Amino acid sequence: MRSESDTSNMTSLALDLRHHPAVREIRCECAVCGVHATGWQVYSLGAECHNCGSYEMRPVSVSQPTVIRAA
Ligand SMILES: [Zn+2]
Repeated sequence: MRSESDTSNMTSLALDLRHHPAVREIRCECAVCGVHATGWQVYSLGAECHNCGSYEMRPVSVSQPTVIRAA
């Protein structure tokens, strides 16, 4: 038999996530060791270095690898 409460719990969680502002994945660079990582920009940049554990991450500009230039 299906549990109705479990289903509604999962639904409300999904709805709650949808109310969050758009999260952008941005490429970051550790200010301490220089390791690149993926961070999330919501209100502010949130990222943690997986190498040294520092939160001092700064966004790096990524060059688009799929840019097609007309010759
Ligand atoms: Zn680091």
